[in-house]
Amino acid sequence: MEKINILGAHVSNVTASEAADIILHRTKNKETTRVFTPNSEIIENFRKDPKMLEILNSAELLTPDGIGVVIGSKILGTPLKERAAGFDIANLLLDRARKDGLTFYFFGSKEEVGKLAKENVEKMYPGVKIVGTHSGYFSENDDIASIIAEANPDIIFVCLGAGKQEKWIYDNAPRLSGKALLGIGGSLDVFAGTVKRAPDIFIKLNLEWFYRLIKQPQRFIRMLALPRFILSVTGYRLKHGKE
Ligand code: UDP
Repeated sequence: MEKINILGAHVSNVTASEAADIILHRTKNKETTRVFTPNSEIIENFRKDPKMLEILNSAELLTPDGIGVVIGSKILGTPLKERAAGFDIANLLLDRARKDGLTFYFFGSKEEVGKLAKENVEKMYPGVKIVGTHSGYFSENDDIASIIAEANPDIIFVCLGAGKQEKWIYDNAPRLSGKALLGIGGSLDVFAGTVKRAPDIFIKLNLEWFYRLIKQPQRFIRMLALPRFILSVTGYRLKHGKE
């Protein structure tokens, strides 16, 4: 699979559908798969920290969650096919895994959000097997990996927010070998219905970021990372040319 270097992050050039198929194939073969879905904010914030870049690049699949990363790849002259959002990959997996009887675990968000997400997903995808949920608010001493290993799921959604979830997956994947671990931020909130995803028209016009800004204006400062990222990418291209 082609990987494209975006400011040091090696992003997989795959569609959401291809990513879901790769994850299912590897999981059936009992190969561990770490999946991170960085947006431009994550790449911009992680790229100056060698440890965080090492963590990002340890993933077998690193898919572009935001349109900013796709625009950045075009500026660099090495275009990615399309945005492959974590939430879309999660939905494709829930749908397709039913055929193979692969099971899921939801780790993250508040306990009641995880439970509600499970209920809703079971209605949306009849026959899907979710073998457990666990709150994302825990103490250092809690051994969540053991609890998840005991439930023995095939695919684990790790939804602890950017940074925390990637570190958790990096540290705990060796203890959950043969499984797929996806760091997919606020997905459980969306499945639970506590946070709404943007209407389709915003997604089609690549304006999902704008919808989130209107709905959650407190994210404004965080979202300034997008223009900083575009400036960084442009600077990189001017300095290095096309790789
Ligand atoms: N979260 C969690 N544990 C924490 C911090 C956050 O489980 O210690 C959850 C939070 O409840 C939310 C999810 O992480 O459901 C993602 O948060 P956010 O939307 O901020 O995600 P990001 O944009 O950082 O990926």
